[in-house]
Amino acid sequence: MIQLYIPLNFLGVIYREIKQSLADMERLFSLLDQNREVADSPGAQPLVAKGARVEFSHVEFSYEAKRQILFDVDFTIPAGTTTAVVGHSGSGKSTLSRLLFRFYDVNKGSIAIDGQDISSVTQASLRAAIGIVPQDTVLFNDTIEYNIAYGKPGASHADIVAAARAASIHEFIESLPDGYATMVGERGLKLSGGEKQRVAIARTLLKNPAILIFDEATSALDSKSEQAIQAQLKEIAKNRTTLVIAHRLSTIADAQQIIVLDHGKIVERGTHQSLLAARGLYAQMWERQLARPDEDVASVPLELQG
Ligand code: ADP
Ligand code: MG
Repeated sequence: MIQLYIPLNFLGVIYREIKQSLADMERLFSLLDQNREVADSPGAQPLVAKGARVEFSHVEFSYEAKRQILFDVDFTIPAGTTTAVVGHSGSGKSTLSRLLFRFYDVNKGSIAIDGQDISSVTQASLRAAIGIVPQDTVLFNDTIEYNIAYGKPGASHADIVAAARAASIHEFIESLPDGYATMVGERGLKLSGGEKQRVAIARTLLKNPAILIFDEATSALDSKSEQAIQAQLKEIAKNRTTLVIAHRLSTIADAQQIIVLDHGKIVERGTHQSLLAARGLYAQMWERQLARPDEDVASVPLELQG
């Protein structure tokens, strides 16, 4: 028995090391995996995005043949405006952003930007035109400078500092012992949810995309940090075509268009005021939010609705 303890203990150490690197590999594979299903079509042209009007036309989609996720989803985001998508957890909101970024191809219907079908343009040009501020920002095990610059390879230090300033994280970075050269990520300095979010905002500002996707961008934060970041997001979104996947309805009340998804179908659309007047699902979600201001409406599973 005793003989076994030593190797097991030793294996434990190795296992932790392997697990650590697997975490990184997993991330890499999930990125590769998502791209694998989609390829540039022969003769794909670069996307020319000017105002960047986004058009989902009768989109049907399923991840697996057996279970359809989106049904006849049809809406337009006029150039330079904001459309918010709300709906309970699992209703298909994030799927919309994955399709716009073309991690997957639609089964039926189409998605176009300024009249160009996204399946006919090069993926590189499509992804250069879209900035995503994700729910959970992944930081690379590298310097904070690298992590911001990732938004725009080859950016100058001055551009990076300007983006960090605009995202209100410059002073925090300067306060770190190694400043912009500080290592962050799993093997470096761990940043708080709010700090990571600001890095993501800086990254996006640097990239300066025509289209923005905020997918559950502020869900990791308390209401106070959320308000601060929300004000910044609003500033970034100004005059850009923006798709917001919202958790707290108060943050999207002034969106030009709100779409309500339920089980993969658009069940309501309109402005905050018109949707309240319609007394449907949106109005219900709003009531619920008023009663429990800190609850994240999108975390309420479909089964618990009402
Ligand atoms: P939401 O963002 O509204 O919470 P999602 O768009 O993430 O919902 O997911 C919609 C549905 O698709 C859910 O039922 C989810 O389980 C399913 N789904 C999401 N991603 C995958 C995937 N990679 N493979 C299979 N099913 C998925
Ligand atoms: Mg989601």
